[in-house]
Amino acid sequence: MIEMSYNYLTGVVEILADAPDSWRELPNLPFWENPNSDLWGHSICRSLYHETFHFWQFISSGYIARLVEEEWSRFLSFEQSGEIEPISSEAMKYIDKKGRPFSVKELVECWARFWDVHTRSPVEILRQEIISVEDFAATLELSIPGMHEPAYSGESFDLVMQHGKDCESYANPYRWLLNEMVVTGASSIFSNVVFPIITHTAFKTENPLDTFFAAIERAKDSGELMRGVFGDPDTMSKRKSIVQLWQKLWNRLIPELIDSRSIQSLETGLNRIESGPLKEHPIFKEVPLMESTLGGYFKMGSFSGAGGLSDPDDRFPVFGLPGIPQFRVALGRFVPPPKIEFSNFSWYCPEHGVSQVWQLMGKGDKFSLSERVDDLQRRVVEFREAIVLEEKGLPADFYDIE
Ligand SMILES: [Zn+2]
Repeated sequence: MIEMSYNYLTGVVEILADAPDSWRELPNLPFWENPNSDLWGHSICRSLYHETFHFWQFISSGYIARLVEEEWSRFLSFEQSGEIEPISSEAMKYIDKKGRPFSVKELVECWARFWDVHTRSPVEILRQEIISVEDFAATLELSIPGMHEPAYSGESFDLVMQHGKDCESYANPYRWLLNEMVVTGASSIFSNVVFPIITHTAFKTENPLDTFFAAIERAKDSGELMRGVFGDPDTMSKRKSIVQLWQKLWNRLIPELIDSRSIQSLETGLNRIESGPLKEHPIFKEVPLMESTLGGYFKMGSFSGAGGLSDPDDRFPVFGLPGIPQFRVALGRFVPPPKIEFSNFSWYCPEHGVSQVWQLMGKGDKFSLSERVDDLQRRVVEFREAIVLEEKGLPADFYDIE
């Protein structure tokens, strides 16, 4: 994959590859309709999708939004005092395995990889990355009646997660899960269905790893439940597409596998943005407006056919299952990252209509969204440079010239 990054303080996605020139002035990138199109080649699909998913993770997860709040407060205090505060103990826990099979950070990355592999198609990745699969492509590729996007088999998905590039670090939790679920007798299909639903929900709790492990224990112990939910494991993967299973089981698996106390206190990143310090953030303060347009689109019935979403006020299945083509298109259109830096130019998310009206009325922000993104990026670079200098034992203002 090409070099890429996501910045948690600004929401900016960086992709070190050229984008088509025709994208320069487009308010809505055609990428989200067709991420694998030959028009933009094969290099940017996984990276653009993966890094953007980190932005959607932040909006979905109260836990991740809390970490962003902490970093935002460290940043603001650096701007005021020039001092760099130590990282909080909560942030340290993010990278610490503490005797467990993987850290929270590994689960965050695996969650992003799960969806980037799904969106790119494992068959394509296998062709590019690992081995020539021409001889047995027929067993890895599936054609499912009524599906427009190319389909693939569970075997090809597992192959990428177990043998793909950097899989030891990026796919570790999924590989662990496949092993754990062997006791159910249908490890591949159970893992593929359970993983995104449980992980999305776990990251709305205060302790995602505890919630995740507890949910997997329940899934393992409830062979009968799983069989009742899924049907006969030998034939179900051939009968149903994974997309249909995710939609059908979203509302059923969460109450079955997550304990009721956690369910009552689930918190999204959006909840925190609306009520916490990030509502003053120059970019993220726009997120509630963006999310509400997604909700409007949802209520207009534009999602008809998406199925499985019993509560039209709950948009979080859309964030939780962003690999489903209709959901991906809606998220890319209404909740894109504020800026995507390609090698040849930067794309900016258009200002929200309501923000434009406020600006015209003199009530909104003095600066446009793109100006605010560029300004914040510059300030965050100073913060990052100061952290690097501090680590080398130099004071934060060592190179400042009065
Ligand atoms: Zn990542």
